[in-house]
Amino acid sequence: MDETGAARTPPGSDEEAFPAYHAARCDGLAALDAQLIGCRACPRLVEWRERTGAHPRAAFRDWEYWARPVPGFGPPDAALAVVGLAPAAHGGNRTGRMFTGDASGDFLFRALHAVGLASQPTATHRGDGLELYGVRVTAPVHCAPPENKPTPTERRTCRPWLSAELELLSPHLRTVVALGAFGWQALLPVLGEAGWPLPRPRPAFGHGVQLTLPAAAHRRELQVLGSYHPSQRNTFTGRLTFDMLVELLARAAELAGLGRPGG
Ligand code: SF4
Repeated sequence: MDETGAARTPPGSDEEAFPAYHAARCDGLAALDAQLIGCRACPRLVEWRERTGAHPRAAFRDWEYWARPVPGFGPPDAALAVVGLAPAAHGGNRTGRMFTGDASGDFLFRALHAVGLASQPTATHRGDGLELYGVRVTAPVHCAPPENKPTPTERRTCRPWLSAELELLSPHLRTVVALGAFGWQALLPVLGEAGWPLPRPRPAFGHGVQLTLPAAAHRRELQVLGSYHPSQRNTFTGRLTFDMLVELLARAAELAGLGRPGG
């Protein structure tokens, strides 16, 4: 073991130690993304992402699925991060870009465009011209899980990737939006580990809940907002309307210093 407690021999990509070992050693988001896409640390998720890719939905039968871990998407100097749940089997797992190619992403990117944070309202595939302005979209679990439900072990195994991503974003990061209770629960421990003091007890998730994490040591103050996840379950039932998400993202943008729509 070295002084960090990590193994001297780099773990193989199918070992549980792979994320922690490699994520902490990446000196930029490009390097992080390059390491991430080779990760095979969660056997169940590797099997699922590849099996899904080998059996496309009829509508996507001409696609060659990505079927690997899906990196975050957005500029390395983003002041705002949007943290979801995990890629969808026929969405991000197909296109290779976070939230791209599924109904949740359609809703999210349309709202980001309405707020002035995205160059276009649609996201269909890598290379579709979409750019994000000041915002990075990512997730605490980078591989598509069966039934959108990663296990606690899978969440824990994948955590170093999000931890390292937030660390690399931290010089510019001012606000984080957590989509859904899972995103909220997964995000707070990562922020705590990264050095932001967390209140105890931890505040419960809710749409519009705002948590201010005070500056500490080398960390600047960070605003954390909760939003209902733009899943079809929420958008079809009206639990999350388009206007609700636009309003929340506009607030997040303003807190991040990115301005309000039309402002
Ligand atoms: S979920 Fe995360 S840790 Fe698990 S295989 Fe995918 S990228 Fe690796």
